[in-house]
Amino acid sequence: MSTEAPKPANFIRNIINTDLESGKHQSVQTRFPPEPNGFLHVGHAKSICINFGFAQDYNGHCNLRFDDTNPAKEELAYAKAITEDVQWLGFKWSGEIRHAADYFDQLYAYAEELIEKDLAYVDELSADEMKSYRGTLVEAGKNSPYRNRPNSESLELFRKMRAGDFADGAMALRAKIDMASPNMNMRDPVIYRIKRQHHIRTGDKWCIYPTYDFTHCISDALESVTHSLCTLEFEDHRPLYDWVLDNISIDCHPQQIEFSRLNLEHTITSKRKLNKLVTEGYVNGWDDPRMPTISGMRRRGFTASAIRDFVIRTGVTKKVHTVEMSLLENSVREDLGEKAPRAMAVLKPLKITLTNYPEDKTEELMAPNHPQNESMGERKIYFSKEIYIDQADFRESANKKYKRLVLGKSVRLRNAYVITCDDVIKDADGNITELLCSYDPNTLGKNPEGYKPKGVIHWVSASHSKPAEIRLYDRLFNVPNPAAADDFLTTINPNSLEVVDGARVEMSLANAKPEDTFQFEREGYFCADRYDHQTDKLVFNRTVTLRDSWAKIEAKETK
Ligand code: ATP
Ligand code: MG
Repeated sequence: MSTEAPKPANFIRNIINTDLESGKHQSVQTRFPPEPNGFLHVGHAKSICINFGFAQDYNGHCNLRFDDTNPAKEELAYAKAITEDVQWLGFKWSGEIRHAADYFDQLYAYAEELIEKDLAYVDELSADEMKSYRGTLVEAGKNSPYRNRPNSESLELFRKMRAGDFADGAMALRAKIDMASPNMNMRDPVIYRIKRQHHIRTGDKWCIYPTYDFTHCISDALESVTHSLCTLEFEDHRPLYDWVLDNISIDCHPQQIEFSRLNLEHTITSKRKLNKLVTEGYVNGWDDPRMPTISGMRRRGFTASAIRDFVIRTGVTKKVHTVEMSLLENSVREDLGEKAPRAMAVLKPLKITLTNYPEDKTEELMAPNHPQNESMGERKIYFSKEIYIDQADFRESANKKYKRLVLGKSVRLRNAYVITCDDVIKDADGNITELLCSYDPNTLGKNPEGYKPKGVIHWVSASHSKPAEIRLYDRLFNVPNPAAADDFLTTINPNSLEVVDGARVEMSLANAKPEDTFQFEREGYFCADRYDHQTDKLVFNRTVTLRDSWAKIEAKETK
Protein backbone atom coordinates (compact mmCIF):
# COMPACT_ATOMS: atom_id res chain seq x y z
CA MET A 1 0.00 0.00 0.00
CA SER A 2 2.96 2.32 0.30
CA THR A 3 2.94 2.83 -3.47
CA GLU A 4 1.24 6.22 -3.55
CA ALA A 5 2.87 7.78 -0.52
CA PRO A 6 5.08 10.71 -1.36
CA LYS A 7 7.23 11.23 1.72
CA PRO A 8 7.61 14.91 2.40
CA ALA A 9 10.24 15.91 4.92
CA ASN A 10 8.94 17.03 8.28
CA PHE A 11 10.34 17.66 11.72
CA ILE A 12 9.55 14.16 12.99
CA ARG A 13 11.29 12.46 10.07
CA ASN A 14 14.25 14.74 10.68
CA ILE A 15 14.48 13.55 14.28
CA ILE A 16 14.16 9.91 13.24
CA ASN A 17 16.81 10.34 10.53
CA THR A 18 19.20 11.90 13.02
CA ASP A 19 18.60 9.12 15.55
CA LEU A 20 19.26 6.43 12.95
CA GLU A 21 22.36 8.17 11.60
CA SER A 22 23.84 8.75 15.05
CA GLY A 23 23.21 5.13 16.01
CA LYS A 24 20.93 6.13 18.90
CA HIS A 25 18.46 3.68 17.41
CA GLN A 26 18.90 0.86 14.93
CA SER A 27 15.26 0.73 13.98
CA VAL A 28 12.00 2.55 14.54
CA GLN A 29 9.30 1.38 16.95
CA THR A 30 6.12 3.45 17.33
CA ARG A 31 2.67 2.77 18.74
CA PHE A 32 -0.89 3.95 18.25
CA PRO A 33 -2.63 4.10 21.64
CA PRO A 34 -6.39 4.73 21.33
CA GLU A 35 -8.70 4.70 24.31
CA PRO A 36 -11.57 2.34 23.42
CA ASN A 37 -14.28 4.84 24.38
CA GLY A 38 -15.61 5.66 20.94
CA PHE A 39 -15.02 5.15 17.24
CA LEU A 40 -11.93 6.57 15.58
CA HIS A 41 -12.36 9.79 13.64
CA VAL A 42 -10.50 11.60 10.90
CA GLY A 43 -8.12 13.11 13.48
CA HIS A 44 -7.12 9.64 14.57
CA ALA A 45 -6.52 8.81 10.93
CA LYS A 46 -3.73 11.37 11.03
CA SER A 47 -2.22 9.80 14.11
CA ILE A 48 -2.52 6.35 12.51
CA CYS A 49 -0.86 7.49 9.29
CA ILE A 50 1.96 9.06 11.27
CA ASN A 51 2.58 6.21 13.71
CA PHE A 52 2.00 3.28 11.37
CA GLY A 53 3.12 5.12 8.26
CA PHE A 54 6.46 6.28 9.63
CA ALA A 55 7.22 2.85 11.10
CA GLN A 56 6.48 1.34 7.70
CA ASP A 57 8.60 3.88 5.82
CA TYR A 58 11.59 3.04 8.00
CA ASN A 59 10.94 -0.72 7.96
CA GLY A 60 10.16 -0.52 11.63
CA HIS A 61 7.21 -1.63 13.71
CA CYS A 62 4.11 -0.02 15.12
CA ASN A 63 2.09 -1.51 17.97
CA LEU A 64 -1.62 -1.12 18.45
CA ARG A 65 -2.20 -0.59 22.15
CA PHE A 66 -5.53 -0.01 23.80
CA ASP A 67 -5.17 2.57 26.52
CA ASP A 68 -7.64 0.86 28.83
CA THR A 69 -6.75 2.41 32.18
CA ASN A 70 -10.21 3.92 32.52
CA PRO A 71 -12.35 0.81 33.08
CA ALA A 72 -15.67 2.67 33.32
CA LYS A 73 -15.80 3.63 29.68
CA GLU A 74 -14.22 0.78 27.80
CA GLU A 75 -16.33 -1.25 25.52
CA LEU A 76 -15.48 -4.26 23.44
CA ALA A 77 -17.51 -2.98 20.51
CA TYR A 78 -15.31 0.10 20.33
CA ALA A 79 -12.14 -1.98 20.44
CA LYS A 80 -13.45 -4.14 17.62
CA ALA A 81 -14.35 -1.12 15.48
CA ILE A 82 -10.92 0.41 16.10
CA THR A 83 -9.02 -2.69 14.93
CA GLU A 84 -11.22 -2.88 11.86
CA ASP A 85 -10.62 0.79 11.03
CA VAL A 86 -6.83 0.52 11.34
CA GLN A 87 -6.82 -2.47 9.00
CA TRP A 88 -9.18 -0.85 6.55
CA LEU A 89 -6.91 2.20 6.40
CA GLY A 90 -4.27 -0.22 5.16
CA PHE A 91 -2.09 -0.78 8.22
CA LYS A 92 -0.97 -3.79 10.19
CA TRP A 93 0.19 -3.72 13.76
CA SER A 94 3.23 -5.58 14.94
CA GLY A 95 2.53 -8.81 16.84
CA GLU A 96 -0.44 -9.12 19.13
CA ILE A 97 -2.71 -6.23 20.08
CA ARG A 98 -1.45 -4.75 23.38
CA HIS A 99 -3.40 -3.38 26.28
CA ALA A 100 -2.25 -1.04 29.00
CA ALA A 101 -4.01 -3.46 31.35
CA ASP A 102 -1.45 -6.14 30.35
CA TYR A 103 1.07 -4.09 32.32
CA PHE A 104 -0.89 -3.58 35.55
CA ASP A 105 1.43 -5.90 37.52
CA GLN A 106 4.55 -4.16 36.28
CA LEU A 107 3.05 -0.73 36.79
CA TYR A 108 2.24 -1.64 40.36
CA ALA A 109 5.80 -2.82 40.95
CA TYR A 110 7.21 0.45 39.56
CA ALA A 111 4.89 2.39 41.86
CA GLU A 112 6.32 0.50 44.85
CA GLU A 113 9.80 1.27 43.57
CA LEU A 114 9.02 4.99 43.55
CA ILE A 115 7.71 4.74 47.14
CA GLU A 116 10.83 2.89 48.23
CA LYS A 117 12.95 5.64 46.68
CA ASP A 118 10.83 8.16 48.58
CA LEU A 119 9.60 9.54 45.27
CA ALA A 120 5.94 8.74 45.89
CA TYR A 121 3.63 8.90 48.88
CA VAL A 122 0.15 7.99 49.90
CA ASP A 123 -1.91 11.10 50.38
CA GLU A 124 -5.09 11.21 52.44
CA LEU A 125 -6.29 14.65 51.37
CA SER A 126 -9.77 14.58 49.86
CA ALA A 127 -10.10 15.42 46.18
CA ASP A 128 -11.30 18.93 47.04
CA GLU A 129 -8.47 19.53 49.46
CA MET A 130 -5.97 18.27 46.95
CA LYS A 131 -7.36 20.74 44.46
CA SER A 132 -7.04 23.69 46.80
CA TYR A 133 -3.49 22.67 47.76
CA ARG A 134 -2.55 22.50 44.12
CA GLY A 135 -2.31 26.26 43.64
CA THR A 136 -2.93 28.04 40.35
CA LEU A 137 -0.99 28.98 37.26
CA VAL A 138 0.30 32.11 39.02
CA GLU A 139 0.50 30.72 42.53
CA ALA A 140 2.62 27.86 43.86
CA GLY A 141 0.89 24.89 45.45
CA LYS A 142 1.23 23.78 49.08
CA ASN A 143 2.72 20.54 50.30
CA SER A 144 0.21 18.04 51.60
CA PRO A 145 0.59 17.29 55.31
CA TYR A 146 1.06 13.63 54.30
CA ARG A 147 3.91 14.39 51.93
CA ASN A 148 6.65 13.69 54.39
CA ARG A 149 5.27 10.57 56.01
CA PRO A 150 7.90 7.81 56.19
CA ASN A 151 8.04 5.82 52.98
CA SER A 152 7.56 2.60 54.95
CA GLU A 153 4.17 3.95 56.01
CA SER A 154 3.28 4.87 52.43
CA LEU A 155 4.29 1.42 51.29
CA GLU A 156 2.11 -0.25 53.87
CA LEU A 157 -0.85 1.99 53.01
CA PHE A 158 -0.35 1.44 49.28
CA ARG A 159 -0.45 -2.32 49.80
CA LYS A 160 -3.61 -1.93 51.82
CA MET A 161 -5.09 0.25 49.08
CA ARG A 162 -4.46 -2.61 46.71
CA ALA A 163 -5.95 -5.13 49.14
CA GLY A 164 -9.17 -3.15 49.22
CA ASP A 165 -8.91 -1.89 52.79
CA PHE A 166 -10.04 1.65 51.96
CA ALA A 167 -13.04 3.24 50.32
CA ASP A 168 -12.88 4.68 46.81
CA GLY A 169 -11.21 8.08 46.88
CA ALA A 170 -10.12 7.76 50.54
CA MET A 171 -6.49 8.13 49.55
CA ALA A 172 -4.27 8.17 46.47
CA LEU A 173 -0.67 7.56 45.54
CA ARG A 174 1.12 10.70 44.38
CA ALA A 175 4.51 11.25 42.81
CA LYS A 176 6.73 13.45 44.98
CA ILE A 177 8.00 16.05 42.54
CA ASP A 178 7.53 19.77 43.15
CA MET A 179 4.43 21.60 44.41
CA ALA A 180 5.93 24.89 43.20
CA SER A 181 6.60 23.77 39.65
CA PRO A 182 5.35 26.20 37.01
CA ASN A 183 4.07 23.10 35.23
CA MET A 184 0.89 22.02 37.01
CA ASN A 185 1.40 18.43 35.85
CA MET A 186 4.53 18.27 37.99
CA ARG A 187 2.81 19.31 41.22
CA ASP A 188 2.81 15.87 42.80
CA PRO A 189 0.48 14.25 40.27
CA VAL A 190 -1.70 11.35 41.38
CA ILE A 191 -0.42 8.11 39.88
CA TYR A 192 -2.81 5.59 41.47
CA ARG A 193 -6.39 5.97 42.64
CA ILE A 194 -8.81 3.67 44.41
CA LYS A 195 -11.70 2.78 42.13
CA ARG A 196 -13.83 -0.30 42.61
CA GLN A 197 -14.61 -0.97 39.03
CA HIS A 198 -14.85 -4.12 37.02
CA HIS A 199 -12.31 -4.13 34.19
CA ILE A 200 -13.04 -5.83 30.92
CA ARG A 201 -9.66 -7.57 30.87
CA THR A 202 -8.60 -7.88 34.48
CA GLY A 203 -12.05 -8.39 35.97
CA ASP A 204 -12.11 -7.56 39.68
CA LYS A 205 -8.44 -8.23 40.28
CA TRP A 206 -7.72 -4.56 40.91
CA CYS A 207 -9.46 -1.92 42.96
CA ILE A 208 -6.70 0.58 42.31
CA TYR A 209 -5.92 1.85 38.84
CA PRO A 210 -2.89 3.77 37.51
CA THR A 211 -3.44 7.17 35.87
CA TYR A 212 -2.86 7.79 32.19
CA ASP A 213 0.38 9.74 32.69
CA PHE A 214 1.95 7.02 34.81
CA THR A 215 0.78 4.22 32.53
CA HIS A 216 1.56 5.68 29.16
CA CYS A 217 5.28 6.30 29.48
CA ILE A 218 5.91 2.94 31.16
CA SER A 219 3.85 1.08 28.55
CA ASP A 220 5.88 2.80 25.81
CA ALA A 221 9.14 1.82 27.51
CA LEU A 222 8.03 -1.80 28.09
CA GLU A 223 7.31 -2.03 24.38
CA SER A 224 10.72 -0.56 23.48
CA VAL A 225 9.11 2.33 21.67
CA THR A 226 11.72 4.62 20.16
CA HIS A 227 9.53 7.58 19.22
CA SER A 228 6.29 8.19 21.07
CA LEU A 229 4.36 10.39 18.65
CA CYS A 230 1.34 12.18 20.05
CA THR A 231 -0.63 15.40 19.77
CA LEU A 232 0.28 18.79 21.19
CA GLU A 233 -1.95 18.63 24.27
CA PHE A 234 0.59 16.19 25.72
CA GLU A 235 3.46 18.67 25.45
CA ASP A 236 2.97 19.81 29.05
CA HIS A 237 2.91 16.19 30.15
CA ARG A 238 6.30 15.42 28.64
CA PRO A 239 8.30 16.49 31.75
CA LEU A 240 6.24 14.00 33.76
CA TYR A 241 6.70 11.32 31.09
CA ASP A 242 10.45 11.82 31.38
CA TRP A 243 10.44 12.11 35.19
CA VAL A 244 8.74 8.74 35.64
CA LEU A 245 11.09 6.95 33.26
CA ASP A 246 14.15 8.65 34.76
CA ASN A 247 13.21 7.46 38.23
CA ILE A 248 12.32 3.80 37.78
CA SER A 249 14.62 0.93 36.85
CA ILE A 250 13.86 0.57 33.19
CA ASP A 251 16.37 0.63 30.37
CA CYS A 252 14.30 2.14 27.64
CA HIS A 253 13.46 5.84 27.45
CA PRO A 254 11.32 6.66 24.40
CA GLN A 255 11.30 10.20 23.08
CA GLN A 256 7.90 11.82 23.15
CA ILE A 257 7.34 14.09 20.17
CA GLU A 258 4.20 16.17 19.76
CA PHE A 259 2.53 17.29 16.54
CA SER A 260 -0.60 19.39 16.00
CA ARG A 261 -4.02 17.79 15.86
CA LEU A 262 -6.00 17.60 12.69
CA ASN A 263 -9.04 19.86 12.91
CA LEU A 264 -11.49 19.81 10.06
CA GLU A 265 -14.01 22.54 9.19
CA HIS A 266 -17.73 21.78 9.19
CA THR A 267 -17.28 18.86 11.51
CA ILE A 268 -16.09 17.96 14.99
CA THR A 269 -13.29 15.72 16.17
CA SER A 270 -14.14 15.05 19.76
CA LYS A 271 -15.29 11.60 20.75
CA ARG A 272 -17.41 13.07 23.53
CA LYS A 273 -19.37 15.24 21.11
CA LEU A 274 -19.60 12.54 18.50
CA ASN A 275 -20.97 10.25 21.19
CA LYS A 276 -23.66 12.84 21.90
CA LEU A 277 -24.71 12.90 18.24
CA VAL A 278 -25.09 9.12 18.37
CA THR A 279 -26.80 8.70 21.72
CA GLU A 280 -29.19 11.59 21.16
CA GLY A 281 -30.13 10.34 17.71
CA TYR A 282 -28.89 13.20 15.55
CA VAL A 283 -27.25 10.59 13.32
CA ASN A 284 -27.84 6.90 12.75
CA GLY A 285 -24.92 5.48 14.67
CA TRP A 286 -21.17 6.01 14.81
CA ASP A 287 -20.80 4.87 11.22
CA ASP A 288 -23.49 7.14 9.79
CA PRO A 289 -22.06 8.37 6.47
CA ARG A 290 -22.24 11.97 7.73
CA MET A 291 -19.96 11.26 10.66
CA PRO A 292 -16.23 12.15 10.50
CA THR A 293 -15.49 8.69 11.89
CA ILE A 294 -13.33 6.38 9.82
CA SER A 295 -16.20 3.91 9.58
CA GLY A 296 -18.61 6.72 8.65
CA MET A 297 -16.31 7.96 5.91
CA ARG A 298 -15.91 4.38 4.72
CA ARG A 299 -19.66 3.89 4.51
CA ARG A 300 -19.97 7.19 2.71
CA GLY A 301 -17.62 5.85 0.03
CA PHE A 302 -14.41 7.67 0.92
CA THR A 303 -11.48 5.44 0.06
CA ALA A 304 -8.67 4.55 2.42
CA SER A 305 -6.11 5.85 -0.08
CA ALA A 306 -7.93 9.20 -0.34
CA ILE A 307 -7.94 9.56 3.44
CA ARG A 308 -4.23 8.69 3.65
CA ASP A 309 -3.48 11.12 0.84
CA PHE A 310 -5.44 13.88 2.57
CA VAL A 311 -3.71 13.34 5.90
CA ILE A 312 -0.28 13.55 4.26
CA ARG A 313 -1.31 16.75 2.47
CA THR A 314 -2.27 18.45 5.72
CA GLY A 315 1.34 18.11 6.83
CA VAL A 316 3.08 17.19 10.06
CA THR A 317 3.95 20.27 12.09
CA LYS A 318 3.44 21.83 15.49
CA LYS A 319 1.28 24.58 14.07
CA VAL A 320 -2.34 24.54 15.24
CA HIS A 321 -4.55 24.74 12.19
CA THR A 322 -7.95 23.85 10.82
CA VAL A 323 -8.30 22.31 7.41
CA GLU A 324 -11.14 22.95 4.98
CA MET A 325 -13.46 20.06 4.27
CA SER A 326 -12.94 20.68 0.56
CA LEU A 327 -9.36 19.47 0.89
CA LEU A 328 -10.58 16.07 2.07
CA GLU A 329 -13.31 16.01 -0.56
CA ASN A 330 -10.83 16.87 -3.28
CA SER A 331 -8.63 13.96 -2.28
CA VAL A 332 -11.70 11.74 -2.55
CA ARG A 333 -12.64 13.18 -5.96
CA GLU A 334 -9.16 12.71 -7.30
CA ASP A 335 -8.97 9.13 -6.14
CA LEU A 336 -12.45 8.16 -7.31
CA GLY A 337 -12.02 10.09 -10.55
CA GLU A 338 -9.36 7.57 -11.45
CA LYS A 339 -10.81 4.45 -9.90
CA ALA A 340 -14.58 4.65 -10.07
CA PRO A 341 -16.28 3.16 -13.14
CA ARG A 342 -18.89 5.38 -14.77
CA ALA A 343 -22.57 4.54 -14.77
CA MET A 344 -25.84 6.32 -15.42
CA ALA A 345 -28.48 6.98 -12.81
CA VAL A 346 -31.49 9.25 -13.07
CA LEU A 347 -32.36 10.65 -9.65
CA LYS A 348 -35.66 12.39 -10.47
CA PRO A 349 -37.00 10.64 -13.57
CA LEU A 350 -38.92 12.35 -16.34
CA LYS A 351 -40.32 9.96 -18.93
CA ILE A 352 -39.57 10.42 -22.62
CA THR A 353 -41.31 8.53 -25.38
CA LEU A 354 -39.32 8.39 -28.59
CA THR A 355 -42.16 8.61 -31.08
CA ASN A 356 -40.14 7.39 -34.07
CA TYR A 357 -38.51 4.45 -32.31
CA PRO A 358 -40.01 0.97 -32.88
CA GLU A 359 -42.29 -0.24 -30.10
CA ASP A 360 -40.69 -3.59 -29.34
CA LYS A 361 -37.09 -2.85 -30.18
CA THR A 362 -34.25 -2.86 -27.64
CA GLU A 363 -30.72 -2.03 -28.68
CA GLU A 364 -27.66 -3.11 -26.80
CA LEU A 365 -25.06 -0.37 -26.87
CA MET A 366 -21.58 -0.49 -25.41
CA ALA A 367 -20.39 2.24 -23.08
CA PRO A 368 -16.84 2.68 -21.77
CA ASN A 369 -16.47 2.23 -18.01
CA HIS A 370 -13.93 5.02 -17.88
CA PRO A 371 -13.40 7.73 -20.48
CA GLN A 372 -9.62 7.86 -19.95
CA ASN A 373 -8.89 4.27 -19.05
CA GLU A 374 -9.69 1.67 -21.67
CA SER A 375 -8.41 -1.13 -19.48
CA MET A 376 -11.48 -0.67 -17.28
CA GLY A 377 -13.52 -2.12 -20.13
CA GLU A 378 -17.03 -1.57 -21.33
CA ARG A 379 -20.53 -2.41 -20.26
CA LYS A 380 -23.83 -2.99 -22.00
CA ILE A 381 -26.51 -0.35 -21.85
CA TYR A 382 -29.96 -0.72 -23.33
CA PHE A 383 -31.79 1.71 -25.58
CA SER A 384 -35.55 1.53 -26.06
CA LYS A 385 -38.64 3.55 -26.95
CA GLU A 386 -39.24 4.78 -23.43
CA ILE A 387 -36.41 6.33 -21.49
CA TYR A 388 -35.96 8.52 -18.44
CA ILE A 389 -33.94 11.67 -18.11
CA ASP A 390 -33.59 13.85 -15.01
CA GLN A 391 -36.30 16.45 -14.45
CA ALA A 392 -33.59 19.08 -14.08
CA ASP A 393 -32.36 18.34 -17.59
CA PHE A 394 -35.44 19.71 -19.35
CA ARG A 395 -36.94 23.16 -19.75
CA GLU A 396 -39.70 24.39 -21.99
CA SER A 397 -37.65 27.46 -22.78
CA ALA A 398 -34.18 28.48 -21.76
CA ASN A 399 -31.38 30.81 -22.67
CA LYS A 400 -28.18 29.80 -24.46
CA LYS A 401 -26.35 28.91 -21.28
CA TYR A 402 -28.69 25.97 -20.60
CA LYS A 403 -26.93 23.08 -22.30
CA ARG A 404 -29.60 20.43 -21.86
CA LEU A 405 -32.90 19.53 -23.46
CA VAL A 406 -35.30 22.34 -24.42
CA LEU A 407 -38.66 22.11 -26.23
CA GLY A 408 -38.02 22.27 -29.96
CA LYS A 409 -34.28 21.72 -29.52
CA SER A 410 -31.99 18.73 -29.50
CA VAL A 411 -29.53 17.18 -27.10
CA ARG A 412 -27.23 14.15 -27.15
CA LEU A 413 -27.98 11.22 -24.89
CA ARG A 414 -24.71 10.07 -23.37
CA ASN A 415 -23.35 6.95 -25.11
CA ALA A 416 -26.37 6.93 -27.48
CA TYR A 417 -28.32 9.06 -29.98
CA VAL A 418 -29.27 12.69 -30.43
CA ILE A 419 -32.92 13.40 -29.67
CA THR A 420 -35.15 16.42 -30.32
CA CYS A 421 -38.02 17.42 -28.05
CA ASP A 422 -41.24 17.85 -30.05
CA ASP A 423 -43.94 18.08 -27.42
CA VAL A 424 -44.62 18.33 -23.71
CA ILE A 425 -47.40 16.47 -21.90
CA LYS A 426 -48.77 17.97 -18.66
CA ASP A 427 -51.24 16.90 -16.02
CA ALA A 428 -54.30 18.94 -14.96
CA ASP A 429 -52.13 21.02 -12.60
CA GLY A 430 -49.69 21.91 -15.31
CA ASN A 431 -46.89 19.62 -14.14
CA ILE A 432 -44.81 18.09 -16.89
CA THR A 433 -45.42 14.34 -16.90
CA GLU A 434 -43.83 13.22 -20.16
CA LEU A 435 -41.95 14.44 -23.19
CA LEU A 436 -42.48 13.35 -26.75
CA CYS A 437 -39.19 13.32 -28.63
CA SER A 438 -37.76 11.94 -31.83
CA TYR A 439 -34.40 10.30 -32.14
CA ASP A 440 -31.96 10.68 -35.01
CA PRO A 441 -30.85 7.17 -36.06
CA ASN A 442 -27.76 8.57 -37.78
CA THR A 443 -26.14 9.93 -34.66
CA LEU A 444 -24.73 6.89 -32.90
CA GLY A 445 -21.08 7.77 -32.36
CA LYS A 446 -21.22 10.60 -34.92
CA ASN A 447 -22.42 14.17 -35.21
CA PRO A 448 -25.81 14.88 -36.74
CA GLU A 449 -25.94 16.50 -40.16
CA GLY A 450 -27.14 20.07 -40.46
CA TYR A 451 -27.77 20.83 -36.80
CA LYS A 452 -25.92 20.89 -33.51
CA PRO A 453 -27.24 19.42 -30.28
CA LYS A 454 -27.07 21.67 -27.20
CA GLY A 455 -25.20 19.35 -24.88
CA VAL A 456 -24.98 15.84 -23.48
CA ILE A 457 -27.28 14.46 -20.81
CA HIS A 458 -27.54 11.11 -19.06
CA TRP A 459 -30.54 8.78 -19.25
CA VAL A 460 -31.69 5.22 -18.66
CA SER A 461 -34.06 2.94 -20.53
CA ALA A 462 -37.45 2.68 -18.79
CA SER A 463 -37.77 -1.05 -19.26
CA HIS A 464 -34.07 -1.83 -18.78
CA SER A 465 -33.33 0.06 -15.60
CA LYS A 466 -33.78 -0.65 -11.90
CA PRO A 467 -35.36 1.37 -9.13
CA ALA A 468 -32.94 2.50 -6.45
CA GLU A 469 -32.90 4.44 -3.22
CA ILE A 470 -30.34 7.21 -3.33
CA ARG A 471 -29.09 8.93 -0.21
CA LEU A 472 -27.72 12.41 -0.73
CA TYR A 473 -25.43 13.48 2.07
CA ASP A 474 -24.27 16.93 2.81
CA ARG A 475 -22.17 18.49 5.56
CA LEU A 476 -23.39 17.72 9.03
CA PHE A 477 -22.80 21.26 10.29
CA ASN A 478 -23.68 24.58 8.72
CA VAL A 479 -20.79 26.51 10.18
CA PRO A 480 -17.05 26.01 9.70
CA ASN A 481 -16.36 25.69 13.42
CA PRO A 482 -19.28 24.03 15.23
CA ALA A 483 -17.13 23.42 18.31
CA ALA A 484 -16.95 27.19 18.85
CA ALA A 485 -20.73 27.52 19.19
CA ASP A 486 -22.25 27.68 22.68
CA ASP A 487 -24.14 24.55 21.79
CA PHE A 488 -22.71 22.74 18.81
CA LEU A 489 -26.03 20.93 18.33
CA THR A 490 -27.65 24.19 17.18
CA THR A 491 -25.30 24.31 14.19
CA ILE A 492 -26.38 20.97 12.75
CA ASN A 493 -27.38 21.17 9.09
CA PRO A 494 -31.03 20.00 9.03
CA ASN A 495 -30.64 19.03 5.38
CA SER A 496 -27.59 16.82 5.73
CA LEU A 497 -29.52 13.81 4.45
CA GLU A 498 -32.00 13.68 1.59
CA VAL A 499 -33.39 10.31 0.65
CA VAL A 500 -34.36 10.10 -3.00
CA ASP A 501 -36.86 7.35 -3.61
CA GLY A 502 -37.83 6.31 -7.08
CA ALA A 503 -34.52 6.95 -8.80
CA ARG A 504 -33.73 4.71 -11.79
CA VAL A 505 -30.30 3.27 -12.44
CA GLU A 506 -28.87 1.46 -15.46
CA MET A 507 -29.06 -2.35 -15.52
CA SER A 508 -25.37 -2.94 -14.89
CA LEU A 509 -25.76 -1.48 -11.41
CA ALA A 510 -27.94 -4.41 -10.42
CA ASN A 511 -24.65 -6.29 -10.05
CA ALA A 512 -23.10 -3.74 -7.70
CA LYS A 513 -21.79 -5.18 -4.44
CA PRO A 514 -21.89 -3.31 -1.15
CA GLU A 515 -19.09 -0.71 -1.04
CA ASP A 516 -18.59 -0.66 -4.84
CA THR A 517 -18.06 2.92 -5.95
CA PHE A 518 -19.18 4.60 -9.17
CA GLN A 519 -19.29 7.93 -10.83
CA PHE A 520 -22.91 8.48 -11.76
CA GLU A 521 -22.38 10.64 -14.79
CA ARG A 522 -23.04 14.32 -14.17
CA GLU A 523 -24.28 13.58 -10.64
CA GLY A 524 -21.28 12.70 -8.51
CA TYR A 525 -19.55 9.76 -6.89
CA PHE A 526 -21.73 7.14 -5.25
CA CYS A 527 -21.19 3.86 -3.47
CA ALA A 528 -23.48 0.94 -2.78
CA ASP A 529 -24.33 1.09 0.91
CA ARG A 530 -22.24 -1.25 3.01
CA TYR A 531 -25.21 -2.56 5.00
CA ASP A 532 -28.50 -1.76 3.26
CA HIS A 533 -27.68 -2.40 -0.39
CA GLN A 534 -29.06 -5.69 -1.70
CA THR A 535 -29.58 -7.23 -5.12
CA ASP A 536 -33.33 -6.68 -4.83
CA LYS A 537 -33.10 -3.31 -3.11
CA LEU A 538 -30.39 -1.10 -4.48
CA VAL A 539 -29.18 1.64 -2.13
CA PHE A 540 -26.51 4.12 -3.11
CA ASN A 541 -24.86 6.80 -1.00
CA ARG A 542 -23.61 9.97 -2.54
CA THR A 543 -19.97 10.12 -1.54
CA VAL A 544 -19.24 13.55 -2.95
CA THR A 545 -20.52 15.79 -5.72
CA LEU A 546 -18.45 16.21 -8.87
CA ARG A 547 -17.57 19.77 -8.00
CA ASP A 548 -17.33 21.66 -4.76
CA SER A 549 -20.76 23.28 -4.53
CA TRP A 550 -19.95 24.79 -1.10
CA ALA A 551 -17.12 26.83 -2.59
CA LYS A 552 -19.69 28.53 -4.82
CA ILE A 553 -22.08 29.19 -1.95
CA GLU A 554 -19.33 30.52 0.27
CA ALA A 555 -17.92 32.69 -2.51
CA LYS A 556 -21.38 34.16 -3.10
CA GLU A 557 -21.89 34.85 0.57
CA THR A 558 -18.57 36.63 0.93
CA LYS A 559 -19.15 38.87 -2.09
P1 ATP B 1 -10.86 12.75 21.45
O1 ATP B 1 -10.37 14.11 21.83
O2 ATP B 1 -11.58 12.69 20.16
O3 ATP B 1 -11.60 12.05 22.55
P2 ATP B 1 -8.49 11.41 22.23
O4 ATP B 1 -7.23 12.12 22.04
O5 ATP B 1 -9.03 11.35 23.61
O6 ATP B 1 -9.53 11.93 21.18
P3 ATP B 1 -7.41 8.80 22.01
O7 ATP B 1 -8.15 7.54 21.76
O8 ATP B 1 -6.76 8.99 23.30
O9 ATP B 1 -8.44 9.94 21.70
O10 ATP B 1 -6.39 9.07 20.82
C1 ATP B 1 -5.46 8.15 20.34
C2 ATP B 1 -4.38 8.90 19.63
O11 ATP B 1 -4.93 9.68 18.57
C3 ATP B 1 -3.66 9.85 20.56
O12 ATP B 1 -2.28 9.66 20.40
C4 ATP B 1 -4.08 11.21 20.10
O13 ATP B 1 -3.03 12.12 20.23
C5 ATP B 1 -4.44 11.00 18.63
N1 ATP B 1 -5.45 11.95 18.20
C6 ATP B 1 -6.67 12.17 18.74
N2 ATP B 1 -7.31 13.17 18.11
C7 ATP B 1 -6.49 13.59 17.12
C8 ATP B 1 -6.57 14.61 16.12
N3 ATP B 1 -7.65 15.40 15.98
N4 ATP B 1 -5.52 14.75 15.28
C9 ATP B 1 -4.45 13.97 15.38
N5 ATP B 1 -4.30 13.01 16.30
C10 ATP B 1 -5.30 12.81 17.17
MG1 MG C 1 -7.07 10.62 24.94
